[in-house]
Amino acid sequence: MTAPQIVWFRQDLRLADHAALSAAAAAGPIIPVYILDDVTPGDKRMGGAQRWWLHHSLEALAASLSERGLSFVIRRGEPVALLRQLMAASGATQIHANALYEPWWKKVDESLSAEGQLTLHHSNHLAPPASLLTGSGGRYRVFTPWWKALLTRMPPARPLPVPAMTAAKPVASDLLSDWNLLPTRPNWATGFADWSPGEEGAREALRAFLPRLSAYDETRNLPSQDGISRLSPHIHFGEISPATIWHVASKEAGAAAEPFLRELGWRDYATNLIDQMPDYPDRNGKAQFDKLHWREGSEADRDFEAWCKGRTGYPIVDAGMRELWATGFMHNRVRMIVASFLTKHLMIDWRRGERWFWDTLLDADYGANASNWQWVAGTGVDAPLFSRIMAPLSQSEKFDAGDYVRCWVPELAGVSDPYVHDPDEYGARPKAYPPKIIGHREARERCLAAYQATR
Ligand SMILES: Cc1cc2nc3c(=O)[nH]c(=O)nc-3n(C[C@H](O)[C@H](O)[C@H](O)COP(=O)(O)OP(=O)(O)OC[C@H]3O[C@@H](n4cnc5c(N)ncnc54)[C@H](O)[C@@H]3O)c2cc1C
Repeated sequence: MTAPQIVWFRQDLRLADHAALSAAAAAGPIIPVYILDDVTPGDKRMGGAQRWWLHHSLEALAASLSERGLSFVIRRGEPVALLRQLMAASGATQIHANALYEPWWKKVDESLSAEGQLTLHHSNHLAPPASLLTGSGGRYRVFTPWWKALLTRMPPARPLPVPAMTAAKPVASDLLSDWNLLPTRPNWATGFADWSPGEEGAREALRAFLPRLSAYDETRNLPSQDGISRLSPHIHFGEISPATIWHVASKEAGAAAEPFLRELGWRDYATNLIDQMPDYPDRNGKAQFDKLHWREGSEADRDFEAWCKGRTGYPIVDAGMRELWATGFMHNRVRMIVASFLTKHLMIDWRRGERWFWDTLLDADYGANASNWQWVAGTGVDAPLFSRIMAPLSQSEKFDAGDYVRCWVPELAGVSDPYVHDPDEYGARPKAYPPKIIGHREARERCLAAYQATR
């Protein structure tokens, strides 16, 4: 009888194209395990919105495993100690997991690998981040050359099928309902009902997107249209592998899939950044910005709250922030606008915005969130011209966001284009909708002066 193998599921809650699962299944009977670790990540423990997703995704994975005769073991606590206990109790000889690059996973992996208990596999990214090196052997910190290097390695290996699995002797598990991952009083997740967490939901989201894939490049910046895939929470939780998406999208649209695959590439690129700079969500990529005076104190706190609640008087910003609160998601173009507004118009530290997103986004991702915030704030290692300030009102008009604003800001539901983009300017602001928190020109001048002072 071969010894049991632990498969440690983390941000890879799927059975297909799961290298760790396939390797473990080939080596012996399986104990599938998930550990909710609120200890090692410190203040980067999973945020509120993602706990909702996790509950449903674990439920879906437990059902798929059960159909194949396996019981899912879920535990809560510090993973190194828990995994060692599980090995001792079950007689398992090896833990298999897919590599991740967030600093807390790397710390745990080092402890387990040091004693030869953990075998890491590669399944969560298009390529392992450290495998892409510049001509002089260094790491990339700019997207375009990194992307060109990645393309020389693509397509990724063909996705692995769900392996045949044998169950090991059952091991005690927590009850998912005891973890209280779902909000109750109040239940702020009622607007999450359109999401379908789990591997089948991920496959269905990709299937539903395919007819729109070849129009992605024209429509992806238009928040009023259904031009994007909305795959990000599925991808974050690993319910579908990036290699699967790559192959399915390429088969569907050939070369026309490139703009979409390039966006998928940004996710790997963000992982490449945090692999090099593990504290990227806390530290400016460009040190000169350590001198920048972000606003602090009660007025800044009041403005931050108005931003969080979608009451800034800038319709596109308010629509985005309300969409985020209601659905756990925000369109990428609007994410850029609200992030620019917080950092440039309100001069509030990008880290406060990053943390708000961490708690409210269903796709909150250590690398993607930090790198995008730093990119927009201009503080990132790869950020463009640091004085670029997005004008939310003209962005709203340019990207035809009228219907999006009317959907998420009910006070403006009866205001037509072009007035809806800037009702104050046109004298069309309904009383119930707040006036602008700060004028655009005034904000721009304040920001330029503060950013110039860092030179
Ligand atoms: C301030 C800010 C914060 C962000 N925080 C996150 C985050 O925490 N998690 C997250 O997954 N994305 C984040 N993004 C990136 C992007 O907004 C989302 O990935 C995208 O909106 C998800 O929608 P979609 O699945 O329809 O994307 P699509 O446009 O359909 O793209 C397909 C996939 O590519 C990846 N992707 C696309 N754009 C990016 C990008 N700019 N950076 C990294 N990956 C990308 C995602 O996995 C996405 O699901 C952030 C962007 C900004 C401006």
